[in-house]
Amino acid sequence: MITLSEYLIKTFGTKVYRLSLQTGCTCPNRDGTCGIDGCSFCSAGGSGEFAAPLLPIDEQIREAKKRVDAKFPKNTAPEDRRYIAYFQSYSNTYGDTEELAALFRETVSFPEISVLSIATRPDVLGDDMLPELAGINKIKPVWLEFGLQTANDLTAERFGRGYRTEIFDDTMRRVAEAGLDRIVHVILGLPGETREDMLNTARHIAKLKPEGVKIQNLQILKGTRLAREYARKPFHILTLDEYADIALAFLRELPDNTVVHRLTGDPPRSMITEPRWCVDKKKTLQRMNEVMNAVSRQTDSGVSGKRK
Ligand code: SF4
Repeated sequence: MITLSEYLIKTFGTKVYRLSLQTGCTCPNRDGTCGIDGCSFCSAGGSGEFAAPLLPIDEQIREAKKRVDAKFPKNTAPEDRRYIAYFQSYSNTYGDTEELAALFRETVSFPEISVLSIATRPDVLGDDMLPELAGINKIKPVWLEFGLQTANDLTAERFGRGYRTEIFDDTMRRVAEAGLDRIVHVILGLPGETREDMLNTARHIAKLKPEGVKIQNLQILKGTRLAREYARKPFHILTLDEYADIALAFLRELPDNTVVHRLTGDPPRSMITEPRWCVDKKKTLQRMNEVMNAVSRQTDSGVSGKRK
């Protein structure tokens, strides 16, 4: 099991940073198609608080670069910088297929873009969009990211996901057949979930063999429905140690070649209500590095006994 940064260096021979971009799509879980309130934990920004404003794509890329370029080593020439074009907020295949495909094609035409990464819902990835994305995948790698959060339909109903897990399973198979990479986003510590529920989600995902996973602990953000529910009736929020312990057990259930894209959420500090330990990013990252090292050691020594 390797981290995303290790994978990117291995694949592209250099550091590659995400540019947060927007398609302008909304979400069927907010526009009334399958809900109006969205998922209970989702902020007004549709889980994409750092995206560049909705401008023509060349301007979005230019603006987004200003936010990340300081991360490159000082001696990296601008022409050597590489990026992931990341359409994160809302559901980025929920719109006119032709227009979206044209936007994605234009995005990968910029030489500095190494990967096109699209976050969406499995219930809004139409059969007409997949061949378009498969075509773009021949030019630059295309990653599709799905917010499953849990494989337990009862938990999903409780937070208002708006689609059943079987739809996710079917979409994962269709995307694999189209030859695109699949990244699954999971939240650990959702209200009502036991440790066994979370590990069942890991086992469920493992069977589908996604190329990557993103996991994070449940965070209660200001202004969300979850924040109101928590204020009315507080429930248990994972401590850092509890989260690290479950994250480790979760990753151990996945195939060894799964790329770990993320082990923490990263909303603006000012939005976090609970847990307060998330605000201490240094300590959180240190603990998550320990988790990743423990998984990597186990993978290297071949003692995991996991599915391949
Ligand atoms: S599907 Fe995504 S964008 Fe839509 S409400 Fe849920 S978390 Fe927010």
